[in-house]
Amino acid sequence: MGLWMPGAVRRHGPPVKVGYTSGASGPKRGDVKHSAEGGWGGIHAVLDDLSRSASFQFTVGYDRFEQHYPYNAHCWHAGDADDDGGVAANIDLVGIEHLGMAGTPLTDYQVAATVQISEWCAAQEGITEFARYPEQAGVWTLVEHNEVSDVPTACPSGRIPWDTILKALGDDDMTDEERRQLKEAEAGVKALRGIVWDQAVRLHLLKERVDKHGRRLDNHELVVPALHAEDDG
Ligand SMILES: [Zn+2]
Repeated sequence: MGLWMPGAVRRHGPPVKVGYTSGASGPKRGDVKHSAEGGWGGIHAVLDDLSRSASFQFTVGYDRFEQHYPYNAHCWHAGDADDDGGVAANIDLVGIEHLGMAGTPLTDYQVAATVQISEWCAAQEGITEFARYPEQAGVWTLVEHNEVSDVPTACPSGRIPWDTILKALGDDDMTDEERRQLKEAEAGVKALRGIVWDQAVRLHLLKERVDKHGRRLDNHELVVPALHAEDDG
């Protein structure tokens, strides 16, 4: 367990720009993916500006990614510190910025890096399953800023290729139709299990009856010679 990800370039943000009265850090259970709407210059300016209540743990560039705070810091990235929607994003989730503008999908490097960051952060919390928000129980939940922010935002402006990311993270990447079919199949198996169980019980009862009859026959065979013996006597 570590607070700083190996492979990430450390570029610290101002230490004062994290935390709430409840504390400065704590366990995380997912991450919020953001669009930086700019490059390194803009992102560092926002990070260093003490008049702006904005901080985030990671920024993914085009040939490197930086970590600005320990992954478990309570950064101010998602405009959400109360638990509406089952999550207080700034407290429960890691913030990951991605360089670039709306309309520009993440590069292959950025996709690979954000997958690595999600994986590493989840591993620090002992979590190995990943799912898209609003799924949260027992998984590392993957969120878009606009899904949790208390103020309207377009971020990350459709830049996150979730299918690719979920596939890379080992999610089964099922469509809703496939999920429906799986549910149906599971219900079928459940019903079948009931029938099989009933048949097994009937077989067992039948076997018991056969055994009983068998014993009676055995006894009969034992008894008959004796009777004959008595007759002889
Ligand atoms: Zn954002």
